[in-house]
Amino acid sequence: MKYIKRAWAEIHLERLKENTANFTFAVNHGRKESENSEIMCVVKADCYGHGSVKCAKYLQDDAGIKYFAVSNLDEAVELREGGITGDILILGYTSPVYASAISEYGIIQTITDENYAGELSESAKTPVRCHIKLDTGMTRIGLRYSSPEEYSHAVLRISRLKNLEIEGIFTHLCVADSKDPDDVKYTKNQIKLIKDVKDMVLQEGVFLKHCHFLNSAGGIFYSDPASTLARLGIILYGLYPDRDLVLPFDLCPVMEVKAVVSQVKEVEEGVCVSYGRTYVTKKKTKLATVAIGYADGVPRLLSNKGEMLIKGKRAPIVGRVCMDQLMLDVTGIDVKEGDIAVLFGTSGNERITADDIASLCDTIGYEIVCGISKRVPRVYL
Ligand SMILES: *Cc1c(COP(=O)(O)O)cnc(C)c1O
Repeated sequence: MKYIKRAWAEIHLERLKENTANFTFAVNHGRKESENSEIMCVVKADCYGHGSVKCAKYLQDDAGIKYFAVSNLDEAVELREGGITGDILILGYTSPVYASAISEYGIIQTITDENYAGELSESAKTPVRCHIKLDTGMTRIGLRYSSPEEYSHAVLRISRLKNLEIEGIFTHLCVADSKDPDDVKYTKNQIKLIKDVKDMVLQEGVFLKHCHFLNSAGGIFYSDPASTLARLGIILYGLYPDRDLVLPFDLCPVMEVKAVVSQVKEVEEGVCVSYGRTYVTKKKTKLATVAIGYADGVPRLLSNKGEMLIKGKRAPIVGRVCMDQLMLDVTGIDVKEGDIAVLFGTSGNERITADDIASLCDTIGYEIVCGISKRVPRVYL
């Protein structure tokens, strides 16, 4: 793989397999094999920034994954054209005008409400595979009613529409990563609702191949054989659904972001660094300029706050993060031009994770990895 060593992201593919194996074991622990939830890898948003086709192909060919989920039609087509032959579920909205493309590529579309189902059915010339989304409490997309009977009647009406092949129903848990008793109750209610709907639909003689409601956190804390699939997202990439959670296994972060040192200099006390003069040296200081900035996905909130790893040591980010560069205080570290600094990943015995950066920026690891920009080449190891 050829790339310029300025700023780059190393993707450790084998860690995808390790995280998947640990998650699969946790989800299906103590169940009969016939009751196992199959893993659906959530590869939306370019695999949370890790590179969709490369990662999905690896998951299919080397980890035996047969189910994938994406956010939109473009992502789904990219996977099909990249050689993904398994099921691909679009979790979000696709305008009904694209019915023939959905059908032609053998992709599964989410039905967001009854009206949408009618439009998709009208627009489709050949059968479109679908999963019906039930809004059980996330209040984002999906059918929403006030009783399980109403949900099940709507599912039954949709299942009778022409040119729609309803293969399943699903819902999304919105607080599966919380231990708060009220949140636990909320989640259990969401799960009870979809299970009731599935049973009622079955009683009316309509068999659904799939019913699924587990995401990463749900798979760990609400494992249930009624969920035929577990939609594995953030844990696949080795990050926490919530950084305060204790998981039954160690996560292996898949992405490391590194950049090259472009200049090293010693400056006196009282020298200001970067835009806005927000940092002034308090003593004689050795500074390293690193060729990575907010246009690469380094949050500007790390200005005077974050650290990078270099030569196995932590070096504070001093002054404001610029678009393409930032400065580190490397006093006491043996650093020269051309050395490599790590934004997140490991160096010697030190480690910074995307979750660590997220907590400094009051956000979640998901946003940090998704925010590593297109300019940063992904290097697959
Ligand atoms: C993104 C997403 C997931 C994956 O969630 P994680 O928390 O990353 O496991 C699962 N289901 C739906 C509907 C999603 O949008």
